[in-house]
This record gives sequence, C-alpha cells and structure tokens, in this order.
Amino acid sequence: MQLSGGSPDVPCLTCGKRVFGLRWGTDCPECHARREARANRLAGKVALGATVLMAAYVWLAVPAEAGLGRIYGAIGVLVTYVLTRRIVSRIAMEYLPR
Ligand SMILES: [Zn+2]
Repeated sequence: MQLSGGSPDVPCLTCGKRVFGLRWGTDCPECHARREARANRLAGKVALGATVLMAAYVWLAVPAEAGLGRIYGAIGVLVTYVLTRRIVSRIAMEYLPR
C-alpha cells in the first residue's frame, strides 16, 4: 500500500541508502546479503559443534552391536546438523548486531 504523498524510496535500516520499493525497517539487498553471510558463517560453526556433541553422545550411548541403532543415530546426527544450522541462522538474522 502506498501512502499518499509518501516517498517511494525508503532508507535501508543498516546503511541508510535510499532504495526504491524497500519496506520500512528492512535492509537493502546488499546489507541483507552481507548479514545473511555472517549469519550463515555463525550457524555453520554452531551446527558443527552441536553435531560433534551429538555424534559423541550417539557413539557413547548406542552400543556397537545395536544393529539399526547406529544407523538411526547417524541419521539423528545429520538431522542435528541441518536443524541446528537452520535455527541458528534464523536467530542470527534477527539478533546479530547491525
Ligand atoms: Zn543497506
């Protein structure tokens, strides 16, 4: 919705550059990409740490002769990496300092 008399270009929340069609309180595409790259780097590190912890837990908690247990454990380790990465990335996009 366009407010009458309002300017169609809106300043970026981070760098202040005026961009046509930007929504109020959001970043321009360059700042958004930079922020997303930072969030993804952080998410990768956190997810790696969580995955190592999960793998250690599965290694210690599931006996080797458990058969399918180790396979399910490995699936759990992979799921841990994917979910942790997504969750941390989303949180970092919200809370990383600008
Ligand atoms: Zn910007």
